[in-house]
Amino acid sequence: MRGWRMSELRFDGKVAVITGAGHGLGRSHALSLAERGAKVVVNDLGGTLDGTGASAGPAADVVELIRKNGGEAVASTDDVATPEGAKAIVQAAIDAFGRLDIVVNNAGILRDKSFGKMSVEAFDQVLAVHVRGSFLVSREAFPHLKEQGYGRIVNTSSPAGLFGSFGQANYSTAKMGLVGLTKTLGIEGARAGIKVNAIAPIAWTRMTESILPAEFEAKFTAEAVSALVTFLAHESCETSGEVFSVGAGRVARVFVAEGPGWSKDDHTVEDIRDNWEAIMAEQPYLTPTTLGQQTATSMKAML
Ligand code: NAD
Repeated sequence: MRGWRMSELRFDGKVAVITGAGHGLGRSHALSLAERGAKVVVNDLGGTLDGTGASAGPAADVVELIRKNGGEAVASTDDVATPEGAKAIVQAAIDAFGRLDIVVNNAGILRDKSFGKMSVEAFDQVLAVHVRGSFLVSREAFPHLKEQGYGRIVNTSSPAGLFGSFGQANYSTAKMGLVGLTKTLGIEGARAGIKVNAIAPIAWTRMTESILPAEFEAKFTAEAVSALVTFLAHESCETSGEVFSVGAGRVARVFVAEGPGWSKDDHTVEDIRDNWEAIMAEQPYLTPTTLGQQTATSMKAML
């Protein structure tokens, strides 16, 4: 890390796939990586916010802008949520640029409804784009990254998943699902030099312009989020399996912690009731980084 400190972070020779890069955050990530020398596959289905429709326009416009700025990019209008689409997205990188180093899983849709009114279709569609899409594109990319012993994957979670959000049971489930994917891919990619992290952003885009206060537009920029994504995509970033909240000027690690806990052999229902305060305690918390570490903590408490 130290050697990188003084210099601008560059991506010359690196190839990135960015899904959902025709609008909003993905567009901004694509411009940021291209400006720093990465060759970019700009993927976008070009549909509406709820995932209906399709258009080649948004991906083509971003590619044109990157080329106008002197960068290299190709467009893909494939659907991240289908195995064929995911395969085609990764293949576009190999065909155009001969390699793949970075995947930013960013494509997303919204189908908000209060829980009592949420249809099975609205649940399935949202999970399909966010979770299945990130799984499928990462799955296609993984063998390429593994073979070259290097890769960076950035997944897009959300504060709605980490902390809950009224009317977004489908979206929250999907976004917390991406935390699980990030942690396990981080573990499985470790030996091959593949670092996997997730962001939980807030930014002014078409997804949020109707819900965020007007004064957020100037401060909660997509560029502020892209600065973090660009760092997480760089070879100097050695962190893996982590989640970061990012919005306006602030970046923070969000971690899954477990309280110190309370333990007693053969505890009864009433024991649990009577020790609820200790069970709920947060300090001193632990931050296990694998299932094994967490299980070992429980075992230790019983010895
Ligand atoms: P956006 O609607 O501007 O961008 C999403 C893009 O994904 C669109 O261009 C859309 O066409 C594309 N897309 C949708 N389905 C696709 C599919 N099946 N295949 C390929 N492309 C598809 O919204 P955004 O705010 O830029 O969102 C980007 C990501 O950030 C999403 O995953 C979103 O959930 C997440 N996010 C955004 C915010 C925010 O504050 N804007 C907050 C938390 C999370």
